[in-house]
Amino acid sequence: MLKGIAASAGIAIAKVYKLEQPVVTIEKKEGMNAAEECAKFDAALAKTLSDIETIKARAAGKLSEEELAVFDAHLMMASDPEFAAQIKAMIENESVNAEYAADVVANNTIAMFESMDNDYFRERAADVKDVTFRLKANLLGLLIPDLSLVDEDSVIVAHDLTPSDTAQLNEHAKGFATAIGGRTSHSAIMARSLEIPAVVGCAGVLEACNHGDTIILDAISGEVFVNPDETMIKEYEVKAEAYRQEREALKVLKNAKSVTTDGHEVELAGNIGTPKDVEGVVNNGGEGVGLYRTEFLYMNSQEFPTEEEQFEAYKEVLEGMNGKKVVVRTLDIGGDKKLPYFTFPEEMNPFLGYRAIRLCLDRKDIFRTQLRALARASVYGKLCIMFPMIATINEFREAKQVFMEEKAKLIAEGVEVADNIELGMMVEIPAAAVLADKFAEEADFFSIGTNDLVQYSMAADRMSEKVSYLYQPLNPSLLRLIKMTIDGAHKNGKWVGMCGEMAGDPTSVPVLLGLGLDEFSMSATSILQARKIVNSLNHKEMEELANKALECSTMQEVVELVESNLNK
Ligand code: PEP
Ligand code: MG
Repeated sequence: MLKGIAASAGIAIAKVYKLEQPVVTIEKKEGMNAAEECAKFDAALAKTLSDIETIKARAAGKLSEEELAVFDAHLMMASDPEFAAQIKAMIENESVNAEYAADVVANNTIAMFESMDNDYFRERAADVKDVTFRLKANLLGLLIPDLSLVDEDSVIVAHDLTPSDTAQLNEHAKGFATAIGGRTSHSAIMARSLEIPAVVGCAGVLEACNHGDTIILDAISGEVFVNPDETMIKEYEVKAEAYRQEREALKVLKNAKSVTTDGHEVELAGNIGTPKDVEGVVNNGGEGVGLYRTEFLYMNSQEFPTEEEQFEAYKEVLEGMNGKKVVVRTLDIGGDKKLPYFTFPEEMNPFLGYRAIRLCLDRKDIFRTQLRALARASVYGKLCIMFPMIATINEFREAKQVFMEEKAKLIAEGVEVADNIELGMMVEIPAAAVLADKFAEEADFFSIGTNDLVQYSMAADRMSEKVSYLYQPLNPSLLRLIKMTIDGAHKNGKWVGMCGEMAGDPTSVPVLLGLGLDEFSMSATSILQARKIVNSLNHKEMEELANKALECSTMQEVVELVESNLNK
């Protein structure tokens, strides 16, 4: 059994699909049967061609024409009769094993291309390397993992999953376990929006299993079992079914209000990463979108998305929510979120560096494109725009100013822009929380980003499982920052949401309710459970509970306080 962090609830029992590059070691064997080796080579070559065809077909629509053309170059290279003839001739003449012959011929071809004084041929050398790596792996029966090729129900096991990895997961990916990451790392967030179970920060998981092993992923407790016995599999099948039924039972709350027993109403909204996720929010009874992380639009692209592409995406989300509030966060890139087509400066601490609003205010060309697209889309629903990582009032003013300029330009061009767009900010840097009353004079709303607020308050990298014990949103220090934020906003008649993971955490909801939070935005799959909790609580009692929590000394005391109150 391995222990990790339960990042997206659920239970999966399936075969392991290991996302790890194989080590291809070629040995020379002599005195081989040439006919058998040639047959082996033919089969491996056929598999190589069909692998590339499949990868290309699955990538179509996701990659640009230029990137797809790379697959054609690979196919042409792999089906070159001269290449196959050379390998077979070597097998026949020297009675060597097929993988050795393939390796020698490949290396000669690569050396020849590399020695040419011409970029075109040097690129062909890279193609030969790629294709022959796959061919040799196929000859040795090794798997080159590719998430788009997963064709039986599997649990993906990896060191980490990048956003582009998660974009490739298909219906056979029943869950994943990664060696690194925490509850708020992006792989975890993606798992929740895909509604598949995930355990992250599970050190040793790659070493503990082999491709094809059976694995139980208990993403409720954060436990992973490799090659369990029959009894255990049965036990977990029962647990998985119970979990499914529990989720089913919550569906009666889909169209219910989120209101306490004494009539205090709040809003439960969903966090999304792509327009596709709107469906999950609607199906889970979301009363709005409290956070649209637009960076995925940029990360899943091969170049900066155009104004038109962005406009289409924002419009789709606004229309999909049918007039309900949609909070779109402007580009929050940097930290652990990189772009393949943009060079970030080398920094010692990227999470403290050139990211989010800092980058957007420096590169206003990028920022303006996004703001124009948003302003244009605003007429299709109820749009709220928020700026990430605001640390100072001047940053907020400048961001707002750029938006106003773009809005004015559009109106001058005769383009319609809604006049009820709200402009708010994320409170995820302690400096902003402390000065919330001043920020609230200028912002229409706040959304508290506890994932980063905890990271920056505790000085604990959210990607590091070593310091994940410091992810303590219920620590009284954090509760006091949250209270300052809410009070600062309410004093100015502004509303406050929370879109960090804390908002959907069952132990945190009662305290946040008591602190006066107006909107809770979470993974779609957490909404109904949160509604059940809200509907069962008394607001006055939660205010008292929150006041007591603010006086606690440790997170453990807060947790005990909440649990003893709820079990009364
Ligand atoms: C946060 O920091 O809490 C947040 C919601 O933003 P992200 O997780 O995308 O950094
Ligand atoms: Mg954040």
